[in-house]
Amino acid sequence: MERAYDHLLSLLMTVKIAPGERIPIDTVARQLGISQTPIREALSQLEAEKLVYKTTNVGYRASPQMTPEEVHDLYTLRLLIEPYAAACAAEHMDDEALSILQAIQADMDAVVERDEQAYARFAEADAQLHRLIAKGSGNRLIEETIERLHAHLQIFRSLYQNSAQPNAPEVAAREHQRIIAALLAHDPAAAEQSVRDHLTCSQQRMDRANGTSRG
Ligand SMILES: [Zn+2]
Repeated sequence: MERAYDHLLSLLMTVKIAPGERIPIDTVARQLGISQTPIREALSQLEAEKLVYKTTNVGYRASPQMTPEEVHDLYTLRLLIEPYAAACAAEHMDDEALSILQAIQADMDAVVERDEQAYARFAEADAQLHRLIAKGSGNRLIEETIERLHAHLQIFRSLYQNSAQPNAPEVAAREHQRIIAALLAHDPAAAEQSVRDHLTCSQQRMDRANGTSRG
């Protein structure tokens, strides 16, 4: 079921299954060489996470694309949770987390220096940093909530990849550098503030890219 879940999640996140599109359970089962049962189980978990929905005749479909207002609201929710998670993470991060953080730092430095390969890796490094903060909260519910929000956002970003540049990589990379420095310094107040500043700026960039004028 875990393999089926990961496979379906990646199909959704990369919009290989587009928003609103039907999910062909039999095809997916054949691709993975497994029965339909674990796929149905994975789908019901994805349904609980609002990434897919069930219809009476057709079966499962990928959830519709988020509206600009929903993206705005998603950032508002992240702003309520992630600064707190970052403050906890600054206090509790273990050696393993800190060494991953140093690797992400090197990636961010490269992005700021406009290294093209680092540019390509940016989305992944971004996801990794926010996942590390979520995990560092030491609160599993918070961790899962942040992960789930990130999946929704990733799908939205995949759709907008070419039309808009919602998260200008080198600007966001500079914001990430501040967060990483605060975490490495075990400074909860600075970690909290830098995550709040980063998400506020990201929200504004998204709003601008989507033409939302809401506060
Ligand atoms: Zn970020």
